[in-house]
Amino acid sequence: MRESVDCCIVGGGPAGMVLGLLLARVGLSVTVLESQPDFDRDFRGDTLHASTLEMLDQIGLADRVLAMPHAKLRQMSIHAGQTSYLLADFGRLHSRYPYIAIMPQSEFLEFLCAEAGRYPGFRCLRRAPVTGLMEDGGRVSGVRFHQDGSERAIAANLVVAADGRFSRIRKLAGMQAQERAAPMDVCWFRLPRRETDGHDSGGFFVGSGRMLITIPRVTSWQIGYVFPKGDFGEVRAAGIDAFRTAIADTVPWLADRVSLIEDFTDVHLLNVKADCLRTWHRPGLLFIGDAAHVMSPVGGVGINAAISDAVATANVLGHPDHPCLADGPPPEALLAGIQRRRERPTRIIQAVQSRIQDVLVERAISGREFEVPGPVRALLAIPGIRQIPIRIFALGVTRARLEL
Ligand SMILES: Cc1cc2nc3c(=O)[nH]c(=O)nc-3n(C[C@H](O)[C@H](O)[C@H](O)COP(=O)(O)OP(=O)(O)OC[C@H]3O[C@@H](n4cnc5c(N)ncnc54)[C@H](O)[C@@H]3O)c2cc1C
Repeated sequence: MRESVDCCIVGGGPAGMVLGLLLARVGLSVTVLESQPDFDRDFRGDTLHASTLEMLDQIGLADRVLAMPHAKLRQMSIHAGQTSYLLADFGRLHSRYPYIAIMPQSEFLEFLCAEAGRYPGFRCLRRAPVTGLMEDGGRVSGVRFHQDGSERAIAANLVVAADGRFSRIRKLAGMQAQERAAPMDVCWFRLPRRETDGHDSGGFFVGSGRMLITIPRVTSWQIGYVFPKGDFGEVRAAGIDAFRTAIADTVPWLADRVSLIEDFTDVHLLNVKADCLRTWHRPGLLFIGDAAHVMSPVGGVGINAAISDAVATANVLGHPDHPCLADGPPPEALLAGIQRRRERPTRIIQAVQSRIQDVLVERAISGREFEVPGPVRALLAIPGIRQIPIRIFALGVTRARLEL
């Protein structure tokens, strides 16, 4: 069976789904192929920063998204021993949305998929893993995928790879990425929130050789257990009791509920890595989101970066002055233009993340006595300076504005 569309998007995560919606809104025929039956994956990045909410506001969707259950994260502090420092104050952002909305990614994606489905040219096929690329005269001309036990194919003027951090399309297209070392890995898990917790801001709690991140959700705390890279085997070998004790020692107000962590199946390991493709495109093929650049979890910006790519891509491909995607494959110069718009801000954010990892995270999990370095304390004491990384994480290096 062979069909053809203007744009075929591989992957229905934040990058793919937002792009699908934005291209369908300008009347293009778009098919999103998603390998899974649903979007329900645990700990898959649930942070909607101000720039994403501002973009949704531009297309009249922000209020409806914020009508769905979510928590608002306004501040993050770092706690080491008896001392605490305010690290992030999203309340000072110059935005209609001075906070991070914490919402299950699955619900956000279902909402976007339903919204895109209102446009005649949009279609999302689930349980449709892409298995191969079709080529025509050196140009990617479509994809092959499996569905309901049969091999199918879709021809497209443009294939967009938005298939995430383990991108199969990267491998199929032989794309090269530059990696950035990360000193840590993270275990994510959840514990219930209690009235007695007495606060709803997020925190970094430094313990001996580990750091815990607490992120408020509607009824629970999303908790990240940060430890030196590659040490998960040791964490596991020490046993679940030792794991529970380490949490209670580092964040004493969680001690009354660590027993709810039954075993390590309740814990989700994130192998932290960051990279960026050298080239994000080939004739007929463009990479966006994690498929183009995996982001470190510092600042919770993976979704933001993925959605900013989708906005930049829609601005170029949907722009009335540019050759219309419905008329044929876009010139590769246009795809190169999308990379130019997005690569520099992405690399700047990755550099800021690396700096924070080197100056704070690496020291915090080193096992040595930890104190926030003097120069950092001095900078944190100046609100204007303290806000710089927050503004970059929340609003991007350049604000993702829809130009359509
Ligand atoms: C444990 C963890 C915690 C995270 N926490 C945060 C956070 O707090 N904040 C934040 O901003 N980011 C976070 N991230 C990162 C964030 O989830 C990603 O940056 C973001 O989801 C990237 O969006 P994407 O659309 O590019 O890729 P993805 O969200 O990975 O979506 C890719 C989609 O492609 C589908 N797919 C894959 N292969 C195929 C195929 N062959 N055919 C068809 N479909 C395919 C997948 O099923 C998936 O739905 C976290 C990531 C992890 C793993």
